[in-house]
Amino acid sequence: MLGKTHQLVANLSLACLSQKERHIMYPRWGGIESGATLSDEFRIMWEIEEIGSEKKQLVHRCYVDSNDTKDHGCVTRALDHAEGCIGFIESYSEEDSTEEEFLENLGMFMGITSHHIADLCTPVHVGHKINFKNLGYSSLSRFHNKVERDIFRFQNKSSIKFSKPKIVELSDKYFWNIANDTYNNIFLKLESVYETKDEQYIIDISSQVVSNAVKHTTDVWHTILHKTKMTKRKWTMQPLI
Ligand SMILES: [Zn+2]
Repeated sequence: MLGKTHQLVANLSLACLSQKERHIMYPRWGGIESGATLSDEFRIMWEIEEIGSEKKQLVHRCYVDSNDTKDHGCVTRALDHAEGCIGFIESYSEEDSTEEEFLENLGMFMGITSHHIADLCTPVHVGHKINFKNLGYSSLSRFHNKVERDIFRFQNKSSIKFSKPKIVELSDKYFWNIANDTYNNIFLKLESVYETKDEQYIIDISSQVVSNAVKHTTDVWHTILHKTKMTKRKWTMQPLI
């Protein structure tokens, strides 16, 4: 997913939260927006599978059509960052940092979490077994870029569905299911869609990708804020509008 699409997903997800949640998160918009594109800007591609392990994983990929755990890093990252947000909130103490610093950093961590969730909703991040040569591309990465550019290009023509946030169970399985749904419902259709080059089908893909990314980001953010009772506390910084 391109940086601008990541920012759109984070922006729309913010709009889907409840009013109380938005009032906490909205003034931290700068943090969320930079978090949503941070790992791409720093070109963080590989990270270790877990603390203490030597094995590295691709952090922006969860290839459902691969059995090698190195290709499943995006699930690990999405879960680690979601749980990391909860831990970060729970360990906040006014003695260590100001409310403003705390919320700014939280915004950034929420943005990073959104990035990895949105990657799990992007078809070319969840599958790699596709006959790209048949579609006229010289490499998988060229095809990957084409699909991501199209998702961005057709954003304005997409019909994005919004739903009320719900509490989800944050687990490996939860994030794996997101990747699996993207793989089955979108990735497996890519080859025939790009064979036809029918614009309407590509717009449909763009609509599904952005809608799913917003839905899952909203659910995870809502779960984090609900579990930590963030809306029950008194925060001094509120939106200007
Ligand atoms: Zn990414």
